[in-house]
Formats: sequence, C-alpha cells, structure tokens
Amino acid sequence: MPSSDFPMSLSLEEAQQRVVAVCKSRTPAIDTVPLQATVGRVLAEHALAAGDMPALDNSAMDGFAVRGEDLPNDGEARFQIVETLLAGHDTRHVLGAGQCMRIMTGARMPNGADTVVIKERVRVEANFAIIGSGERMGSNVRPRGEEMRAGQLAVECGQRIRPTHASLLASLGMDRVRVFGKPRVSIISTGDELVMPGQPCSGAQIYNSNGFGLGALIGGADARLNRVDGSTDGLPFRHVPDDREQLRRALLNAARTSDVVITSGGVSAGEADHLPGLVRELGRVHFWKVRLRPGMPFLFGEIEGTLLFCLPGNPVSSLVTFQILVRPALRALQGDRDIHPRWLNARLIEPVRKQHQRTEMLRGCLESGEDGTLKVRVSGRQGSAMISGMLAADVLVEFPESAQTLDAGQVVRVFPIQHD
Ligand code: AMP
Ligand code: MG
Repeated sequence: MPSSDFPMSLSLEEAQQRVVAVCKSRTPAIDTVPLQATVGRVLAEHALAAGDMPALDNSAMDGFAVRGEDLPNDGEARFQIVETLLAGHDTRHVLGAGQCMRIMTGARMPNGADTVVIKERVRVEANFAIIGSGERMGSNVRPRGEEMRAGQLAVECGQRIRPTHASLLASLGMDRVRVFGKPRVSIISTGDELVMPGQPCSGAQIYNSNGFGLGALIGGADARLNRVDGSTDGLPFRHVPDDREQLRRALLNAARTSDVVITSGGVSAGEADHLPGLVRELGRVHFWKVRLRPGMPFLFGEIEGTLLFCLPGNPVSSLVTFQILVRPALRALQGDRDIHPRWLNARLIEPVRKQHQRTEMLRGCLESGEDGTLKVRVSGRQGSAMISGMLAADVLVEFPESAQTLDAGQVVRVFPIQHD
C-alpha cells in the first residue's frame, strides 16, 4: 500500500478517543417504544416525576393506625378498632381520640392518624387494640413525596434502561418512552481458510468462530444485527473469501444497508489482507493499527458514511478489540452516557513481563483478598488464538505501554470483560 494519509499506530487511548469522537458526532435516531420494550435501550429524554412519589401518605407495615399523641408513655393504652383499611381502598372516617384502624401495608393513612404500630406489638381483645409504651410517634408511615417530588429528575437522558429503571418508569406512570435507535450492524468474516461449523474441515482449513461470537455480541444489548445483507441462511454474518473483488462488493453492500460494518480478519499487512487498501479506495481510513496486544492491526474507517471497524482475525484479538474499541463506539452511537468499560484497581498476584512497547491486555481472573483488596491473577493461556483463555478470564489486565515488568503486589487497572 502507498504511504499512508491517515494516522497509524496510535496509542490505545488515542484510538479510543478518535472512535468515540466520530461516533458522538453522529445523531442517533429516536424511537418511541412501549415501556416493556425499553430494557437494554437508552433513554432519549429526561424522565421526570409527574407527581409526588409516593402519591399518598401510606402505611409501611401491617398494623394499627393511631394518633401518636394517644400512645402511652408508660403502661398500656386501649384503642377502639373502628375500621379495617386495605391497600387500594379509601375511608372517609377521621380517626378520633382513643380510636385506631387496622391498616395493611400500602393502605392510605386515614385522616387524623400519623403513626402505625405493627401488629406484632399489639394485643387484640374483642374490639380493642392494647398498645404498650415504647412506640414512636410517626413510625411506620411512608409520607407522600418521601422518595421523589413532582418534577424531580427520575432517570436521566442517556441512561441505559435496566429492569429496575423500567420498574421506576412504570411507577411514574409512563407507558411509552423515547429511546435512541440502536445502530444496524453488519458483520463480515474474511479468510480463505474458514469453514462453517457442520461442514467437513480438512487440510489447511479451520472453523469460522469469530462470525458466531461477534454475531452473538451484536445481537445482545448494544446494537441491532442487520440480517438484510450481513447474513445468509440465518447466520448473523456473511463470509467472504480473501478475494479483493468479492470483498469490495460485500463492503459496499453492507455499507449501504447498515450504520456500522464490522469485519474480522484480512486487516494486517499480509498478502491476502485486502481491507486497508480497499477501505482507503472506497472511503476513508480514520486510523490503522493500535499500539495494542492483542489487536494491533485494528482499523477504523468509513465507507459512504457507514462506520467500519476492521478487527484482526485471531479470535481473542477480535474479542478484545470489540470490548475496548467497538462496544464503546456502539454505545456512543446510541446516546449512551456510559461509554467506556469501567476499570477497577487490583493487585497482581504474580509478576508479568513483556518485551514490546504496546499496551498489553492480558486475560486475568479476580480474587478477593482476605485483607479486603482486590487481586488479579494473570491466567495461563494468553495466546491470541486461544478462545478458551478469553473465556476463562473475567478481566482484561492492562499492562501499560512503557512498562516492561510488573511486580507481584503492584496495582494495575483491570477491565471486567462483558461476555454478553
Ligand atoms: P488474519 O487477521 O486474517 O490474518 O487472521 C489471523 C488469524 O486468525 C489466522 O490464523 C486466521 O486463520 C484466524 N482467523 C481469521 N478469521 C477467523 C475466524 N472468523 N474464525 C476463526 N479464526 C479466524
Ligand atoms: Mg485472513
């Protein structure tokens, strides 16, 4: 390929910044969806409390509603039971002196009452409740607006909705919610050596694993798999051999029907690695190669406005670059304010060494130390072709560019791997 007119060999940080900057400059579409379809989507508006929450003073326990001033300081007091209050039912009675009402959790507090004494602490004799000393005025009542006041911000725009958010939005009375559109993603795997599982695999061939792993990741919460072009026979991806012309057609096709195209393989500097040249010819390369291991040949570009992430073919390289470069992009494209993987600090259990000047993302397992610190063990199988090593890990351990050795006990950043 001729000398480059795009940045090459960026640091991981620079690469992440460039990816996110481009993605944030795109305006996501907005869909209005029923509440039950919102989980996994990103809220496209602030959700405000329409009224006070809770909307009524109500009992926090099953017990007896009384006037606090009637409670005895010592000895016992007798209260006449005048009514039973169930959740969802109202009463017009005002509680008088020396009276009480049986009340269930969630029932509206009757006028006049300000305290609930739990039933376990009450003796009932005929139509009277006998209550001893030691009860506190105002206890076991959930006052109106205790959790939230009308107009208060309940869920912020840009929040990815989880089941508990759906519950909160429902409790605000919202039935339809505005959420950002998910990017449509097509996946293309490349390589002459690849065979579909289920087919005979002989000689120099291997099974195509990336297509399935990436397809399943995309089918998860972060994007929408584009099955129009990206797939054949119900597969989540399309496979293309290392043929420049076929690859060119597949790229253009996918670009025209998707917001994002993800490829695997064919992006290094080998004879059959056509992608860098093709992207340059058909569109624009934002950058190629990252000072990262595994995942160095990663390319970010665009074709006809569609973003293109070219992942290296080694299965671990493709999964690692997906975690740290593609997933943040997919999140940014759908307005998620939580873009980057959260990292934790942990102490290395054993020393590690490296001989290159790239950031290494080692596969590791967390252990919780008895002294209360988080520890991390770098697991044995680090080869970039070893999927089982990736699966055995729960974090990626950052081995900074400039360091050559990390000692046991040294604090490192670890990034929890999101396996789904
Ligand atoms: P490449 O990036 O195309 O040079 O591929 C690097 C290595 O990853 C080679 O050993 C390929 O055989 C392997 N590889 C490429 N694509 C896949 C795939 N879809 N599934 C499994 N292995 C792959
Ligand atoms: Mg290849």
